[in-house]
Amino acid sequence: MFNFDRHKHKFYEEYNYLDYNATTPVSDEVLEAMLPYFGYKFTNPSAKYPDAMSTKDEINNVRDNIKKIMAASEKDQIIFTGSATESINQAIRSTLKVYPQKKHIITSSVEHSAIYKTFKDLQRDGYEIDFISVNKSGELDLNELQNKLRPDTAIVSIMYANNETGVIFPIDKIANIIKNFNKEIIFHTDATQAIGKISLKLNKNGFDKIDLLSMSGHKIYAPKGIGVLYIKNGTKIRPFITGGTQEYNKRAGTQNTPSIIGLGKAFELAYQYAEDREYNDKLRKWKEKLETQLWQKIPYMHINGKNAERTSNVTNIAFDAVEGEAILVQLFKAGIYVSSGSACSSSSLEPSRVLTAMGMPLTAMHSSLRISMGKWTKEEDIDQVIEILPPIIQRLREISPFWDTKNNCPNEHAIQEAGL
Ligand code: PLP
Repeated sequence: MFNFDRHKHKFYEEYNYLDYNATTPVSDEVLEAMLPYFGYKFTNPSAKYPDAMSTKDEINNVRDNIKKIMAASEKDQIIFTGSATESINQAIRSTLKVYPQKKHIITSSVEHSAIYKTFKDLQRDGYEIDFISVNKSGELDLNELQNKLRPDTAIVSIMYANNETGVIFPIDKIANIIKNFNKEIIFHTDATQAIGKISLKLNKNGFDKIDLLSMSGHKIYAPKGIGVLYIKNGTKIRPFITGGTQEYNKRAGTQNTPSIIGLGKAFELAYQYAEDREYNDKLRKWKEKLETQLWQKIPYMHINGKNAERTSNVTNIAFDAVEGEAILVQLFKAGIYVSSGSACSSSSLEPSRVLTAMGMPLTAMHSSLRISMGKWTKEEDIDQVIEILPPIIQRLREISPFWDTKNNCPNEHAIQEAGL
């Protein structure tokens, strides 16, 4: 039998996992809640015998509980999907089907690729897109948003918290700007990196104007392969996956019962964490320690989004004249798991869209590291990075053509010659 005592497993003993924004392990409580649904509670929730009916009730209880925790209205809908990416695709594409005459859509320049690539795909289909810019700190230009709204704008999609930098957008103000311009424009927010970090309440001014919201299970200690789409009562949306009548006829397919039950438990815990001041203060303190100590030890370092409001658990740092992948390899050798840019784009050599939009210098763009903490992070994990990273950067700079080792600064001549 599989032993779930995580702390006895080699992974937790040998590695320093600091990539909680990429994914999280499943919590013990979540796994425990799920187990019966792999075993005797396996029946199809759409069947009509008592066991199936009770499973269906349990799924509906998860919906009600999520709504209660988010302070949503009773008539709002929670539908379960396969991922945040699917929720996002459904939110955007299914809205556009309802308003075929509207051909203008708006998003920000720093969204996750689930949004960005969906918008780019729609552009190929003839939609006009405006990407709202951000400043050097990663804060959204609200005046630009106001000025780009048009009578034929169908949907605005702006994320809540950024996956790479943790920068939080004022989605309440954004919702007010949009709805004051025209109540008919649909506002969608990708809250994947906000849930579990910010206590979002949908009955507060501005937040009550969110029409659609996407989120994911695997960022909040639930399994991979489960997502949620919140639909405000009255928001028109066509089915995305057609077939059976599951999920209010909006997302066909037999429900992933174990994961839905797990997500329900994870969602409760996520809000407990988001509202736990001590926990968030602790992460913030460690983040500050990490940033200030690295800053003191490493010249020509950038802290991306430093002056903006950020989630407590993540920092994004970059170093002039070094290559991100090379830093990662050195960190992996020391057992430290972090990402360069976002996990989804780190397999490509393209510089991060988010950092490009923030005006990061090209010489540092390829070296960004995202360090994200979570439930099982310890202060020693942060101390290890503070100890190990500065000599790695120094060694890599010594062999970099863009670094002037004698003067301990970037080699401006080489950088200019390379056209960077
Ligand atoms: N949106 C944001 C902000 C994310 O960070 C992610 C995952 O990295 C996604 C969407 C996609 O989530 P999923 O993996 O559930 O499709």
